Amino acid sequence: MKNNKLQADYIKHSITPLDYYRHELPDAALKKHGWNDGGLCPFHADNKKGSFRVNIETGAYKCFACDASGGDIIGFTMALHSLCFVEATSQLADDWGVY
Ligand SMILES: [Zn+2]
Repeated sequence: MKNNKLQADYIKHSITPLDYYRHELPDAALKKHGWNDGGLCPFHADNKKGSFRVNIETGAYKCFACDASGGDIIGFTMALHSLCFVEATSQLADDWGVY
Protein backbone atom coordinates (compact mmCIF):
# COMPACT_ATOMS: atom_id res chain seq x y z
CA MET A 1 0.00 0.00 0.00
CA LYS A 2 1.51 3.28 -1.08
CA ASN A 3 1.38 6.17 1.32
CA ASN A 4 -0.53 9.28 0.31
CA LYS A 5 2.50 11.34 -0.64
CA LEU A 6 3.90 8.62 -2.88
CA GLN A 7 0.48 8.04 -4.40
CA ALA A 8 0.15 11.76 -5.14
CA ASP A 9 3.63 11.96 -6.67
CA TYR A 10 2.91 8.93 -8.79
CA ILE A 11 -0.35 10.36 -10.06
CA LYS A 12 1.19 13.72 -10.87
CA HIS A 13 3.98 11.92 -12.70
CA SER A 14 1.57 9.72 -14.65
CA ILE A 15 -1.12 12.20 -15.71
CA THR A 16 0.20 15.24 -17.53
CA PRO A 17 -1.61 18.47 -16.65
CA LEU A 18 -2.07 19.12 -20.38
CA ASP A 19 -3.96 15.85 -20.89
CA TYR A 20 -5.91 16.36 -17.70
CA TYR A 21 -7.02 19.90 -18.50
CA ARG A 22 -7.80 19.03 -22.13
CA HIS A 23 -10.20 16.49 -20.70
CA GLU A 24 -11.65 18.69 -17.96
CA LEU A 25 -11.79 21.92 -19.97
CA PRO A 26 -12.73 20.80 -23.49
CA ASP A 27 -13.59 24.35 -24.58
CA ALA A 28 -10.21 25.80 -23.68
CA ALA A 29 -7.66 26.09 -26.48
CA LEU A 30 -4.65 24.95 -24.48
CA LYS A 31 -1.15 25.45 -25.78
CA LYS A 32 1.80 23.38 -24.69
CA HIS A 33 3.60 25.74 -22.32
CA GLY A 34 3.02 27.60 -19.10
CA TRP A 35 -0.09 29.52 -18.16
CA ASN A 36 -3.04 29.20 -20.53
CA ASP A 37 -6.49 30.67 -20.78
CA GLY A 38 -8.61 27.92 -19.22
CA GLY A 39 -11.88 29.17 -20.70
CA LEU A 40 -14.89 29.53 -18.45
CA CYS A 41 -14.11 29.07 -14.77
CA PRO A 42 -15.71 25.92 -13.34
CA PHE A 43 -15.74 27.41 -9.83
CA HIS A 44 -18.14 30.29 -10.31
CA ALA A 45 -20.98 31.20 -12.66
CA ASP A 46 -18.63 32.44 -15.34
CA ASN A 47 -19.94 33.86 -18.59
CA LYS A 48 -16.88 35.65 -19.90
CA LYS A 49 -13.60 33.96 -20.78
CA GLY A 50 -10.33 35.45 -19.62
CA SER A 51 -10.40 35.14 -15.82
CA PHE A 52 -9.54 31.49 -15.42
CA ARG A 53 -5.97 30.36 -16.04
CA VAL A 54 -4.36 26.96 -15.88
CA ASN A 55 -0.68 26.09 -15.97
CA ILE A 56 -0.31 23.03 -18.14
CA GLU A 57 3.22 22.35 -16.90
CA THR A 58 2.56 22.37 -13.13
CA GLY A 59 -1.19 21.77 -13.08
CA ALA A 60 -1.75 24.94 -11.05
CA TYR A 61 -4.92 26.92 -11.64
CA LYS A 62 -6.14 30.39 -10.72
CA CYS A 63 -9.29 32.38 -11.26
CA PHE A 64 -8.94 36.15 -11.03
CA ALA A 65 -12.71 36.62 -10.72
CA CYS A 66 -13.60 34.26 -7.85
CA ASP A 67 -10.12 33.64 -6.39
CA ALA A 68 -10.26 29.86 -6.79
CA SER A 69 -6.72 28.55 -6.95
CA GLY A 70 -4.59 25.51 -6.39
CA GLY A 71 -1.18 24.11 -7.10
CA ASP A 72 -1.80 20.94 -9.06
CA ILE A 73 -4.37 18.66 -10.69
CA ILE A 74 -5.09 16.95 -7.38
CA GLY A 75 -6.03 20.31 -5.90
CA PHE A 76 -8.23 21.01 -8.91
CA THR A 77 -9.97 17.64 -8.57
CA MET A 78 -10.52 18.20 -4.84
CA ALA A 79 -12.06 21.63 -5.40
CA LEU A 80 -14.13 20.69 -8.43
CA HIS A 81 -15.71 17.60 -6.87
CA SER A 82 -15.53 18.61 -3.17
CA LEU A 83 -13.26 15.71 -2.33
CA CYS A 84 -10.62 15.28 0.32
CA PHE A 85 -7.04 14.63 -0.75
CA VAL A 86 -7.27 10.85 -0.48
CA GLU A 87 -10.59 10.73 -2.35
CA ALA A 88 -9.20 12.95 -5.10
CA THR A 89 -6.12 10.79 -5.64
CA SER A 90 -8.30 7.67 -5.75
CA GLN A 91 -10.65 9.23 -8.27
CA LEU A 92 -7.78 10.35 -10.49
CA ALA A 93 -6.24 6.89 -10.30
CA ASP A 94 -9.56 5.30 -11.29
CA ASP A 95 -10.43 7.79 -14.02
CA TRP A 96 -7.00 7.66 -15.64
CA GLY A 97 -6.11 4.03 -15.02
CA VAL A 98 -3.07 4.87 -12.89
CA TYR A 99 -2.14 2.17 -10.38
ZN1 LIG B 1 -13.82 31.59 -10.93
